[in-house]
Amino acid sequence: MQALAVFPSAKRVNLLDIPEPKLSSPTQVLLRMREVGLCGTDREIASFEHGEPPSGSDHLILGHESLAEVIEVGREVRSLKPGDLVVAMVRRPCPHPECKPCRAGRQDFCLTGDYTERGIKGADGFLTDYVIDDEEYLLRVPPVLAEVAVLIEPLSVVTKAANQTQAILTRLAYDPGPQRGLVLGAGPIGLLGAMAMVANGFETIVYSRDSEESKQAELVRSLRARYVSSTVSPIESLAKRIGTFDVVLEAVGFAPLMLSATQMLKPNGVVALTGVPPEDATVDLKFGRALRNLVLRNEAIFGTVNAGRKDHLSAIQHLEQFMLLFPESVRKLITHRVPLDEAPELLMKKPGIKSVVQMSRAA
Ligand code: BGC
Repeated sequence: MQALAVFPSAKRVNLLDIPEPKLSSPTQVLLRMREVGLCGTDREIASFEHGEPPSGSDHLILGHESLAEVIEVGREVRSLKPGDLVVAMVRRPCPHPECKPCRAGRQDFCLTGDYTERGIKGADGFLTDYVIDDEEYLLRVPPVLAEVAVLIEPLSVVTKAANQTQAILTRLAYDPGPQRGLVLGAGPIGLLGAMAMVANGFETIVYSRDSEESKQAELVRSLRARYVSSTVSPIESLAKRIGTFDVVLEAVGFAPLMLSATQMLKPNGVVALTGVPPEDATVDLKFGRALRNLVLRNEAIFGTVNAGRKDHLSAIQHLEQFMLLFPESVRKLITHRVPLDEAPELLMKKPGIKSVVQMSRAA
């Protein structure tokens, strides 16, 4: 069977033939991949800026946003059976006994940095026909979600940010009433974030560099949220124009915007950062005011990565809710579906919103 891999030392990205995997432990599950989503992380790995092959290997099989069908289960597997649709969690625990988050199943909060991530860091990913995984890292997906379920992994990043934000907001000893949310960025994470805010009753505004006539802007308006383009309103004047917010979700990874996000907060507000800026990014900013505000207005700013099982379950619930509230908008997030041999080309450009590699269809 074929797989799409990156060879970091040789600086190559290409298809290669690998043997079909077989179950080797009683808790394992054999999966046939249905769809694999591509994102900015894959593009960074394919341009050799990020990513790490499994130890001892010269290549890393790409792909971490998965949707698969269960083909065979090991004899101790209880929660899954052949025919079930599943999504795999990306991050796997580090081996160190002292890492409490990993030992508690919260490897998204790993303390040692020695976790692995399928398709990203030290473990092969899902851009191939058949894959083995452990029952522990698989989540069953309702069949009605099949057409959009490949969005569950990116949505889990959003629901983790939302769950963490809510945990921070519980420090408020009063009911904040109807909330206003700002999303920075209109890529898949930003748009899924906007859907989650709308579904949770927030007055929602999305701010991004795409024009007010773009597909992204149209999609935001189809949720009955408001879209503001940075081509029309620079960030400096944004708060004056659209007011301030209880919650800001950042999904751009542009350092100046990330650090300006606190300017958009109401007192006691929270900023969740999910974008990953380049390591050498510098920012020319008067940070005194932002820091004064953080203290004098009880503001909070935090970073969040990956997601735990609970966040994946919230993602599945949210996606079900989105499909009741605005099914067409959800479908429109997936702008490209291509076969595996067209994936290398698609990794080099960034067309549309979410590109998905179609590995197999329903039998
Ligand atoms: C993935 C996360 C992962 C992160 C960092 C993101 O693209 O969705 O699951 O933890 O990259 O590698």
